[in-house]
Amino acid sequence: MAYDVPRVLVVGGGAAGVITADTLLRQASADAPVAVTLAERAPVVGPGLAYGTTDPRHLLNNYALRMSAREDDPEHLLRWCRTRGVAAEEGSFLTRSAYGRYLAELLDAEPVPDGSTLERVHDEVVELTDADGTYLATTASGSVLTADVVVLALGNPPPRVPRGLEVPADRLVVDPWDPGLVDRVGPHDRVLLVGTGLTTVDLVASLGDARPGARITAASRHGLLPRRHLPELPHPSPGFDGDVRSLREVLAEVRAGRAAGADWRSLVESLKLLGNDAWSAWTPAERSRFDRHVARRWEIARHRMAPPMAAIVDQALASGRLTLARSAEVDPASYDLVVNCTGPGPVSAPGWNPLVDDLVRGGVLRPGPLGRGVDLDRDGALLDTCGVPARGIYAIGAARRGFEWEVAAVPDIRRQVVGLVGRLTARRLPAASPA
Ligand SMILES: Cc1cc2nc3c(=O)[nH]c(=O)nc-3n(C[C@H](O)[C@H](O)[C@H](O)COP(=O)(O)OP(=O)(O)OC[C@H]3O[C@@H](n4cnc5c(N)ncnc54)[C@H](O)[C@@H]3O)c2cc1C
Repeated sequence: MAYDVPRVLVVGGGAAGVITADTLLRQASADAPVAVTLAERAPVVGPGLAYGTTDPRHLLNNYALRMSAREDDPEHLLRWCRTRGVAAEEGSFLTRSAYGRYLAELLDAEPVPDGSTLERVHDEVVELTDADGTYLATTASGSVLTADVVVLALGNPPPRVPRGLEVPADRLVVDPWDPGLVDRVGPHDRVLLVGTGLTTVDLVASLGDARPGARITAASRHGLLPRRHLPELPHPSPGFDGDVRSLREVLAEVRAGRAAGADWRSLVESLKLLGNDAWSAWTPAERSRFDRHVARRWEIARHRMAPPMAAIVDQALASGRLTLARSAEVDPASYDLVVNCTGPGPVSAPGWNPLVDDLVRGGVLRPGPLGRGVDLDRDGALLDTCGVPARGIYAIGAARRGFEWEVAAVPDIRRQVVGLVGRLTARRLPAASPA
C-alpha cells in the first residue's frame, strides 16, 4: 500500500526541535519519506535559549560524550568538534556557544533523504487548528503551515516572580536570560540573585568579568549552590539495584550505597537511569513528597557545575565578591538590583507564548501533574480539558515536566525524541491516507 508523505510540523527550533527534525529525517527512507517543517521565531535555528549565549565562560553542564544530538551515535559531537577545530575529549566541558554552533549545523550534516523534505520557517506559530484531520498552524506574519502531526518543542518560559518578592520594577530583572541584564548593573552595585542554581552561576561568571566591582549576594531557601562535576565521567554505582521502587525504597537504597562507601556521583548516575521509570510508578502522593522534600537536594547533585565554572564561583566567594545566604536572611529592598533566578515558570502559564495561550483558550492544552508541564497521555500526546488525547499534537522538552521528572537536559530530550519518532514511524506517522 502506498502512503501520502506524512507532514510533521516541529514548533520551536532549539535543541529539542532540531534533534526531532534530525531524527525524523534520519529514520526516513525512499520507501518511508517524511516532510518536516521546522518553525523557529528566532533568526537562528539550533542554539535556542541555552546555547545562544556568546559568553565563553558559559560552559555545558555535562561532558562532551554525553551531549551528542544523536542517541545512536554518542561520538557525533566529538567528531563535529574535530572537523571544526574545537578542542574536545570525552570528558571536556565545551562552551555553550560552540554547542549552539553544533546544533545550528546539525540539519546540514547529511543530505535530506530522497522523497523527504525539510523546510525551515523563521516565524512564530501563534495558532493551531484541527481542520478535519489536518493541522493548520498560523504564524505571526499570517502564513498558514499544514501538518498531519505537530511536535511542540517550545522550551522554557521565563521564571515567575516568587511570592513575597516586592521590589520596584526599575530594580527587578524578571528574566535572568535577558541579554541586556549586564547593562543594568552599575560598576559598584549591590546585586541580589534570587536562587542559587546554575543560572546564578552563569551570572556570577558574566558579572565577574563585566562588573568586577559589583557585590553579589545569591540567596535561596537553603542557600546551597549546585555541586560540581569531577573532571572524569562517573559511572553508575555497581551495587545499586536498578528495579523500579517506591520513593521510600529508593531513598533507603541511596543511604545504603552511601554507607557502603559509594561515591555520591555514581549514585546519582544510577538514579538517573532509574529516574523516569520510578517517577511513573510512584503514586501522586509520592511524587508530591519527592517534589517537596527531595527535589532541591536532587537538583543540586544532578545538575552540576563544570569544574572551570566551579573555580570561578570559588574565586568569587574567596574574594568576597559573592556571598551566599538563605532567603530569610536578606532584605531585597536594600539592593540596587534584584535578579530573579528561580528557574523556568510553568509551560501552561499565560502570556509567555501566544501558541500556548491559543491552545489553552481552545481547551486543547491543560497543565499537567504538579502544574509545571502540560498534561499528556502515555504517548506524549496533549490531553485536552476533557482528558481526550489530541490526534497528532505531541510535546517534548520542558512541557513534559511532571509527566516525567528528568525532561529538559539534552540526554533526556534525545530519549524522548527517539521514543516519539519510533512511535510515529511504527504507525507510519499518522494513520496516513492511502494514495
Ligand atoms: C541557561 C541554560 C543552560 C543549559 N545548559 C544545559 C547544558 O549544559 N546541558 C544540558 O543537557 N542541558 C542544559 N540546559 C537544559 C536545556 O533546557 C536543554 O538542554 C535544551 O536547550 C532545551 O531545548 P529546547 O529546544 O527544549 O528549548 P529552547 O532552547 O528554549 O528552544 C525552544 C525554541 O522554541 C522557540 N519557540 C518557542 N515558541 C515558539 C513558537 N510559538 N513559534 C516558533 N518558535 C517558538 C524559541 O524561540 C526557542 O528557540 C540548559 C538550560 C538553560 C536555560
